[in-house]
Amino acid sequence: MGASIAPEQVYWNRKVPLRYEAEIAVIGGGMAGVTAAVSAARTGAKVILIERFAVVGGNATTGGVGAFCGETAGQGQVFDEMIADLEKYHAVAPYVPYPKADHRLFNHTILAVVLQEMLLRHKVKLLLHTQFVDVSVNDDGVIKECIVCGKTGPEALRAKIYIDCTGEAQVAHMAGFSTLKGRSEDQVQLPMSMMFFIRHAEDEHAREEVPEGRFEAIRDKADLPMTSIWPNGPRGNAIKVKIPMFDATDTESMTAAEIRARRRMMEVLDYYQKVEKRKWLLDYCSPQIGIREGRRVVGDYVLALEDLRAGRKFDDAIARGVYYLDAHKPDDDKRTYMLGHHDLKVPPYQIPLRCLIAKDARNMMIAGRCMSAEQLALSSARVMTTCAMMGQAAGIAASLSIEMDCDPREIDPLLVRRTVERNGAKLDV
Ligand SMILES: Cc1cc2nc3c(=O)[nH]c(=O)nc-3n(C[C@H](O)[C@H](O)[C@H](O)COP(=O)(O)OP(=O)(O)OC[C@H]3O[C@@H](n4cnc5c(N)ncnc54)[C@H](O)[C@@H]3O)c2cc1C
Repeated sequence: MGASIAPEQVYWNRKVPLRYEAEIAVIGGGMAGVTAAVSAARTGAKVILIERFAVVGGNATTGGVGAFCGETAGQGQVFDEMIADLEKYHAVAPYVPYPKADHRLFNHTILAVVLQEMLLRHKVKLLLHTQFVDVSVNDDGVIKECIVCGKTGPEALRAKIYIDCTGEAQVAHMAGFSTLKGRSEDQVQLPMSMMFFIRHAEDEHAREEVPEGRFEAIRDKADLPMTSIWPNGPRGNAIKVKIPMFDATDTESMTAAEIRARRRMMEVLDYYQKVEKRKWLLDYCSPQIGIREGRRVVGDYVLALEDLRAGRKFDDAIARGVYYLDAHKPDDDKRTYMLGHHDLKVPPYQIPLRCLIAKDARNMMIAGRCMSAEQLALSSARVMTTCAMMGQAAGIAASLSIEMDCDPREIDPLLVRRTVERNGAKLDV
């Protein structure tokens, strides 16, 4: 391949209507974004949530991930409210404390409904099918407006505080704030995985099959990519297939990842149907591949692997992590890890408020998997229970800054910590 030539540049400039105004704008409606929006709205703040897909939930809905990992008690009142609602639908497994159980299964289709109803109940202005596109930021790091685009076309959104919960740190990236991605040596990110769902055929004649010759044939178990299979309702399974070496922050790489993932799904399905003689029908595939990490925003503090290993406490703690380092090796498709088995476990550790405040910004916070952390630290902190704790804390800190008319880093961190704890977050380690 020859040296890549920088593409010609064009100037993009147009006036757009200022259609939306809020005190707090949350960009991205995954677990972190929903918990941030609800916790801010519970204080009475005027909150808007921007989500590019048809449903909120992110990896937990459109990514097909169906289990809360880590401790599901003491994650804060917003998470508790969500669990209580899921329980009313009988759509979540019973509680067992961590580490006796390290995950808790839920129904992700019901979760999408539960989350949307929670947002509406708490009077969050919700925009679906609306993509965050761009941002205008001044020299002091103050985000003035965002440009969002739904079917109406590009429109402006103005808020006092923005919370980037896009997973890929899309807001920080467009604002030109510092971000990191992947392994420090080569920016390679943890592998993605495709989630798909099968039903067990009851009728012998009702079997579908993958046609011969369409995809590569896997005929030996040793040639399968890392494949995890677990129960999914009556006569069903959820299946997860590892898809390594794609870049979640690159448009073409993401396209290639989705194509590769659906091909791998057909190959794995074909293997189980033809070699293991399973009577499996393909029920559905997640609308999007599951993304473990993209960009991480550089915050006022970068959570380090050593902090986790030491079970470190912080005066300005706002969340707690307990899960092991779920650091899948990024450059092969087998069940391999970046660390030895005994090095994956970490004691409970705290996450400081500074990891949720973008270093280069005056009015932008972060929550969820684009938090400020080293790659291996994030491999634990990205589980949904911890994302929900960060989301609730970011919403609380943002609403305190509205109340006190100051930047998030000017609020007394102990006040944030006490408020987070009063709202049900257990921070003890
Ligand atoms: C395959 C896989 C398996 C996993 N298994 C588990 C598990 O079993 N248990 C567990 O607890 N965790 C698991 N995790 C981790 C966990 O699911 C995620 O880290 C967590 O859900 C991240 O939440 P988030 O809100 O930070 O990001 P996301 O869930 O990625 O949400 C980001 C949201 O922002 C939206 N968005 C992005 N860009 C824009 C834009 N430009 N405009 C508008 N909206 C935008 C997205 O559509 C999405 O809704 C797994 C992750 C993967 C990928």
